[in-house]
Amino acid sequence: MSVYRTHVLLPVDEGTAQAGVFEVKRRLEKELKARKLQDEIKVLESGSVGIVGKGVILAVYPDRMYYFNVSEDDVVRIIEEHLLKGRVVAGLNHAPIAAATAATAAKKDAKVGLTREQRRVVLDKAWTVDPESIDEVIAAGGYKGLEKIFTEKITPEAVIEEIKNSGLRGRGGAGFPTGMKWEFTRKASGTEKYVICNADEGEPGTFKDRLILEGDPHRLIEAMTIAAYAIGAGRGFIYIRGEYELSIERLRKAIAQANEYGLLGKNILESGFSFMLEIRKGAGAYVCGEETALIESLEGKRGNPRVKPPYPVTNGLWQKPTAVNNVETLANIPAIISNGAGWFRKIGTDKCPGTKVFTILGHVEYPGLVETEMGTPLREIIFGYGGGIKGGKKFKAALLGGAAGVFLPEKLLDVKMDYESLKENKAVLGSGAVLVMDEGTSIVDMLFSIAKFFAHESCGQCVPCRVGTHQILDIIYRVRQGRGREGDLETMLGLAEAMFRSSLCPLGQSLVMPVKSALENFKEEFTLAISHAEKP
Ligand code: SF4
Repeated sequence: MSVYRTHVLLPVDEGTAQAGVFEVKRRLEKELKARKLQDEIKVLESGSVGIVGKGVILAVYPDRMYYFNVSEDDVVRIIEEHLLKGRVVAGLNHAPIAAATAATAAKKDAKVGLTREQRRVVLDKAWTVDPESIDEVIAAGGYKGLEKIFTEKITPEAVIEEIKNSGLRGRGGAGFPTGMKWEFTRKASGTEKYVICNADEGEPGTFKDRLILEGDPHRLIEAMTIAAYAIGAGRGFIYIRGEYELSIERLRKAIAQANEYGLLGKNILESGFSFMLEIRKGAGAYVCGEETALIESLEGKRGNPRVKPPYPVTNGLWQKPTAVNNVETLANIPAIISNGAGWFRKIGTDKCPGTKVFTILGHVEYPGLVETEMGTPLREIIFGYGGGIKGGKKFKAALLGGAAGVFLPEKLLDVKMDYESLKENKAVLGSGAVLVMDEGTSIVDMLFSIAKFFAHESCGQCVPCRVGTHQILDIIYRVRQGRGREGDLETMLGLAEAMFRSSLCPLGQSLVMPVKSALENFKEEFTLAISHAEKP
């Protein structure tokens, strides 16, 4: 086995693929071979680093240097200057790769942008190993949690206790304690149980689950196997958004490799425990992100949400006890089991331990993905990691948590990003999307887009949501067209509140969040639009 002095990583995602990452890789391999360097320098494809809009990205280890917007024509210079002489290539857009250890993450850093220090738990291997090589993953600490369980003969109950002690809460939006969900499922009557990973990431602008899956698919397999062992399930499903082709391809390869290595399938690590894992593709309905709609879809039916209770922990897939967890939630499990609940509790806040992956979008200098400790102030996410407002404009608002989120005004920029602090400020963490809007953004237009999305995605099963979303959309449409009427805003709010009280699932219940926060924090924009409306 060769020992390489340098690793060159090329993050592959849809953006870098379009920018020509495979052409750069081919050229790099060709030029290295021509210089007989192929046994000294290894070229690898890695998962996305969460930086968008920077073309092909090339990372050099152990030098910890990123190059951005790399083209085929830059390859020879990178080899001659950096890989042979150890000098950063002048004239190429570059930045040092920040370390992701606890010690460095605690340091205050003057740099801005997504290359500054982050606290990575779920994404710790996402761009440092080849996600398609199980050997590399194992060498980097993958499957250590699973190995620990079977070598130390940890009981399922003890695994659940460890997850409960860690304080891990679901990262899908609701923040329900994961250990409790597993305990309910384990204690539910019946011997046939299931684990489901909800990878149907449909929130507009959110792509964190995709990058976790593309960057480290083995982490999810390890986590689901641990979950299955804990609750007593023999079968699991990854329900994934159909458009996530690269994630699906990598998961398929990873499942095959894990089966081959005895880390999945029958008699895992000769423990006597067996777990079969399969992938199912979603067809693109937003509502299938709701766990019971997802289960219906998985059963081969139309993805309509079920009435709850009963909950999936007792009546899930085919009415059997089922634990449904989101990708990011599960991605924390291997690290908790390997390092212990006490280690996890030292990250984040008392009530919300751990990290959170945020998608930073909109009018910021550096849109992309960042993993930071729970409780990081919103200001740091937007101005530190996101680099502030694009073009030197002023901040106006941030929509937190995706389409079903809350419009936050400037006075709340210092709010801490964790479940408790956001709740105190009538906001939600939701999917972790942070959509930043500059001073030129119309909140009326934004709310119109959100209402249109909800009206389109309503499954139509219950009246308040089916009719209410369209009535709200009609009102905002009129207001936007200069045909608003007195009383429109009160009617809109009343409709959203009625939907919250009477809709069957979170899709219909959550339109009240953007409506209410837009009217509370930016009411003057709506009243101005109505007062300027043409009178009949
Ligand atoms: Fe369907 Fe909307 Fe009712 Fe949910 S709230 S079940 S999406 S109609």
